[in-house]
Amino acid sequence: MDAEIYNIAVLARIDLELDDLKEEFGDLPERVEKFQKKYDELSAIAEETKGILDDVRKFTSSSKITLADLKDKETKLSEQQFLVRNNKEFDAISSEITGIKDEYTKLVDELRTVGLKEENLTMMLKEQEEKAETAKKELEDQKAEMNEISSDQNEEVQGLIDVRNEYKSKIDKENLETYELIRTYHKDAAVYVRKNSCAGCFSSVPAQKIVEIRNNLDEIYRCEACGRVLIPEEIIVDEDILY
Ligand SMILES: [Zn+2]
Repeated sequence: MDAEIYNIAVLARIDLELDDLKEEFGDLPERVEKFQKKYDELSAIAEETKGILDDVRKFTSSSKITLADLKDKETKLSEQQFLVRNNKEFDAISSEITGIKDEYTKLVDELRTVGLKEENLTMMLKEQEEKAETAKKELEDQKAEMNEISSDQNEEVQGLIDVRNEYKSKIDKENLETYELIRTYHKDAAVYVRKNSCAGCFSSVPAQKIVEIRNNLDEIYRCEACGRVLIPEEIIVDEDILY
């Protein structure tokens, strides 16, 4: 059975490798997130404009029906005017026709204004959709780049994770928790003692402690200065297990 400190050294070696692989992505994940946000914002703006434009178009088409109805009414009233029996009836129809004509003119004016608005909105929407489309392409490029790195790494990463899990299961639960906790502030949570110093923070390690570490390979010793787990120099990780 391997010593506890050996298993931890393996874990540290694998984590170093995994961190390096993750670094290959550089700022790509953040860039993808940024482009996603940009695309979401731009498409939301275009979507809003589209909604307004739809309303404008609905108004235009319903107004055109109203205009046709008003024309019909006017024609009918004009015909009725020939059939009136007295001036009073004639005047009443005249005033009704005037009312309809006013309404017609008002609606035509309104349609003209709305027509301009529709033109502007159409142009605006086209521009906004183009911007969103460009952002989408940028996003897809970044995603493609990320997928390429992922697929190159996939097998390697999976292999490392498998070995990691194997060694993790050999390590005492409490020691593993300590290691993971140190990992949250020092990526290299377990480091070698080199030239009587901690290889993580370069503080010297007392000679007596080095002897203890060497003699108790199933115990976990930590650097008094930085808190990293200390691995004695004699412990050499068999690189073959990584590949
Ligand atoms: Zn240290």
